[in-house]
Order: sequence, then structure tokens, then C-alpha cells
Amino acid sequence: MKKISLVLTIFLSFSSYQSFAWGPEGHKIVGEVAQKYLSPAAKAKVAVMLKNKTLADEANWADSIKSNPEWDYTRTWHYVNIADNANYGDAPLNPAGDVVEAIGRLHKELMDKNLAEEKRIEALKFLVHFVGDIHQPLHAGRGEDRGGNDTEVNWDGVTKNLHYIWDTVLIEMKNKTYKQYAADLINTFGNNIKEYQQSDILIWVKDDMGCRDLIYKIKNKETGTGVSSHRNDNRVERDSGGGQGQKFSQIYAARVMPTLDLQLFKAGVRLANLLNQSL
Ligand SMILES: [Zn+2]
Repeated sequence: MKKISLVLTIFLSFSSYQSFAWGPEGHKIVGEVAQKYLSPAAKAKVAVMLKNKTLADEANWADSIKSNPEWDYTRTWHYVNIADNANYGDAPLNPAGDVVEAIGRLHKELMDKNLAEEKRIEALKFLVHFVGDIHQPLHAGRGEDRGGNDTEVNWDGVTKNLHYIWDTVLIEMKNKTYKQYAADLINTFGNNIKEYQQSDILIWVKDDMGCRDLIYKIKNKETGTGVSSHRNDNRVERDSGGGQGQKFSQIYAARVMPTLDLQLFKAGVRLANLLNQSL
């Protein structure tokens, strides 16, 4: 009983502030990559279900409904919190659901041909978004800083939180349309799609957790920039890289972008794989 009330307290205090994973561009990029890897049969079914819209067109629907209180019960489905040395199965389950649980449940709904078509379409639209979310590594993040939302970074003189940097800032630095971004990802990683078509969702979570050291290396030894002042400062590692005169944002982006790009690509490939097998 004590455990349950603690979980509930944590859930209540966090739920209204947790942010939303990839920004709109990130989700569209994932949808666009997935669209390219759909089988002809799945592509035809998606077109019917989404009334000729693409996966990218609907990739942000699950965020757009958040302003409507009727959908409040879906808020926790966008993320999961897991401590550094724990596995998904060890973490206390959020009674309101989490992104791992939601993807499993919605996948079953999508495959259930007895379910009302409207419900299956809803499951499809949620899945397009949540398979993106779960590949933003801070969406399977540490609970203690709410997936980077409470970790502040001095981003060339402006304070930004780490979660927002990964959602939006880094992607915007590339200055590409989502279509161009997706095409470039396919160019870079497309020869190895078999390697990335992992369908075990627990491995997706492990991928995320494997990014943490890289993500949290935000203290710049040489310039002193990038230093965060926040209550989890002891968890932040010193950045050994970075030359004089370079902006911290550039140093950080150069180091993490290959990983961020691969996560976007994996999300697209895995989403396509899931849809090809389910539709
Ligand atoms: Zn989301």
C-alpha cells in the first residue's frame, strides 16, 4: 500500500510537467522514414486508414490532443522513467501506463481485426507517435531529473533544459525540412536496415539507456560553458572535448548528432517493420 501511494504521488507530481519527446519536426522525420520502408500492402492500408494522409502528417496527433482534458489519461503513455542500474521490469510500473506498455497494448489493438475500425485508426496514430517518442533517449530517462527536463544547460549563454535540447534544438540546428532530413538519414544508414530492424521493445529501451553517458556530458572543461546549475549536478560528467573559441552548442552537437540521427532512423525503420507485420 505504501508503495502504491508513493508511485501515485510521484506520478501526480510529475505528470503535468513532463515534456513531449521529439518536437514536431522529429516526429515528422520518423514518420517520413517509416513511410519509405512500408511494404506496398501496408502503405495501401495506411492510406485508407489515414484518409490519404501520410505517417508524417499524423505523427504529432498524439501531442496535439494533449490540450483537450478528455485525453488526459494518455499523458503518461509518452515516456517511462528508469533508474540507471535498473531494467524496465525492475522499475515501479506507472498505474496510468507508460510508453513501453502503451506500444504493446496499441500494437495488439492495431492487429485486432475484430476491433472497430475507428479504434484501430486511433491505435495507428498513437503508435506512429509513441514509436518516435521511445527513440528519444530521454523518454526512457532518469526519473530524478524527469528525463532531462530538470537538467539545465548553459547553451551559449542561454539556459535551456536538456530534454528540450534533444527534442528540438539539435534538430533545428540542421536547418533542414523534415523530408530532406529523412532522405539524408536513409542515405546515411539505409544500407544497414536489417541491423536496425529490432522488434524487441526492451532492446529499444536499452538503446536509450546506452545513450545516457553521451547525453549528460555537458560540462565543458576548457571553456567552462555548458555547466549546468541544478540539483543533479553530480550526475553530469565533464566534457573533455572542445577547442578554444568554439561555441558549446557546436561542440555538443558535433558529438551527439550521429547518435541522435541514428535514433531517428531506427525509430522510422522499426515503425515501418511493426506496421508491415501488423497491417
Ligand atoms: Zn510524445
